[in-house]
Amino acid sequence: MELDRQSPLSHDNGDMSELEASKAQLEQWDDAYVWHPFTPHSVYREEEPLTIVEGEGHYLVDADGERYLDGASSIWCNPFGHCREEIDERIRDQLDSIAHSTLLGNANDQSILLAKRLVELAPDSIGKVFYSDDGSTAMEIALKMAIQYWQQADDGAEDHRTKFLSFSNQYNGDTVGATSTGGIDLFHARFEPLLFEVVRAPSPYIFDRPLDQSREEAVEQFVSEFDRIIDTHGDELAAVVMEPCMQGAGGMITFPDGFLRHAREKTREHGTLLILDEVAMGMGRTGTMFACEQEDVQPDIMSIAKMLTGGYVPLAATLTSDEIYEAFLGPPEEGKTFFHGHTYTGNALGCAAARATLDIFDDENVLDYLPDKIDYFEEALEPLNDLEWVGDIRQCGMAVGVEMVSDPETREGFEAVDRVSQKVCRKAREKGVFLRPLGDVIVLMPPLSIERDEIDQLVDAVEHGIKTVVPEFV
Ligand SMILES: *Cc1c(COP(=O)(O)O)cnc(C)c1O
Repeated sequence: MELDRQSPLSHDNGDMSELEASKAQLEQWDDAYVWHPFTPHSVYREEEPLTIVEGEGHYLVDADGERYLDGASSIWCNPFGHCREEIDERIRDQLDSIAHSTLLGNANDQSILLAKRLVELAPDSIGKVFYSDDGSTAMEIALKMAIQYWQQADDGAEDHRTKFLSFSNQYNGDTVGATSTGGIDLFHARFEPLLFEVVRAPSPYIFDRPLDQSREEAVEQFVSEFDRIIDTHGDELAAVVMEPCMQGAGGMITFPDGFLRHAREKTREHGTLLILDEVAMGMGRTGTMFACEQEDVQPDIMSIAKMLTGGYVPLAATLTSDEIYEAFLGPPEEGKTFFHGHTYTGNALGCAAARATLDIFDDENVLDYLPDKIDYFEEALEPLNDLEWVGDIRQCGMAVGVEMVSDPETREGFEAVDRVSQKVCRKAREKGVFLRPLGDVIVLMPPLSIERDEIDQLVDAVEHGIKTVVPEFV
C-alpha cells in the first residue's frame, strides 16, 4: 500500500524504513511468537488486526501509515489521547530521577504525592491508597483486604463474614479472585475448579427481560431479587462487590438509576462492606471523577486503574477507608500486617504519569466540560435508534454500548459463529474508526477529550458498519 506522505510515519524520511521491520515481517513474527489476550487465534489474521506503530492524539497509526480514531481508547484506558506532551515530559523527567524503587517497607516521593492527591479527590470515606499494577490486582487486593478486615476488626467478632455478593455479567479482571466474583460465563466458567463460591445476584440486564414484561417490571424484579438475596445472606457477607453505574465487559449494562445508592443502604443495613470496582468507570468516564459520585455513594473500598496514568503505563490503586486500614494495625508479631504486594507496587514512572494526568484534568477543566460533551454524545447517538437492528443504546457518561439484534420483535441476537459485531467493527475502519465489540454490543469508549466532530465520525462509522454488515445475517 502507498504510504501517505503526510502520515506521521513519513515525517523523517518519507518511507517505511523508519520501522524496524516491514509490515509483512511484523505480521509473520506476530503469528509466530505472540499469543494475544481475549483473541481466538484461528480467526485472528483473517479478521485483519491492526499493527500499531504510532499514536497521534486521538488517533492510532498502523504499519501501513493509516490513521484510526481510537474509539476504544486503547481498551478504555486513554483519556486524553496518545503522545500527550505533558505526560511524555513528566515521564522523561522522572526517568532522569529514578524509574522505580520498592514500596515494601519504604517510600518514594511520586507515590506519596499521588496518594495525597487521590485521597483529596476521592469521597470522604476514603483515607488510604494501596498501589498495584492493574485493575485485576487492584480488585484482588480489595477482596483480600475485606477478608482479613473481618478477621481483625473488633477482635474478629464478625470473622464469619467470608462471602462476597456479586452480580451476573460482572467483570473484575482475570486473576483468580477477580474471576470468582466475575460473572461472565464465556470468560469465567472454564476456571470453575479454581474459583471460590460467591453469592450471586442477577445482572441488571433489563433489555434481556421476557417479551411480555415491561421495563419497569424488570427493574422492580431486579431490585427485589437483589434485596431478597442480600437479606438472606447479609450476615455472612464480607462485602458486596460491584461495578458502579455500568457493567462494562459484561456488555455495557447500566444499573437502574438509584440502585448504587440502594446497594450502599442495604450494605449498611446488613453491616457489610461495599467494594466498588471503578477500574473502568472511574477517572472521569461517567462525567464525575469517580462513578460513585453519580449517586453520592461513599464506598468502603474502591479500585481504580484504567485511565489512571493517561493510558501510558500500568498502575492501579485500591482506595480504602481509614477504618479498614486501622484494623490492620498492631505489633508486627500479632500478624495483622497486610501481606500482599508486588515488585512494581508504587512504580515512580506510573505515579508520575498519573500525576500528569490529574494535572490535565485540572488544567483543562475536564470535569466542567464533560457534561456538555456527554449530552452531545447522547444526541449524536439518537439516529442509531432508527436502525432496525439496533435494539438498545446504553450510555453512562462517555461509555456507550449499542446492542444489535437480528430481529427487533424477539430481540434475538446473532449467532456467535457469524462474528457479526467483529465484522461491523471491521467495517467501521473504512470510516477511519477503530472499535472493539463485546458480544452483540458495539462499544464506544472514546478518550474523554474527543472532539465533537470526532464523536460524529464515531457514530457515523457505527452506522455504516451496521447498515453494511447486518443485512447479510438477518
Ligand atoms: C478492565 C477491568 C478490570 C481489569 O483491569 P485490568 O487492568 O485489565 O486487569 C477490572 N474491572 C473492570 C470493571 C474492568 O473494566
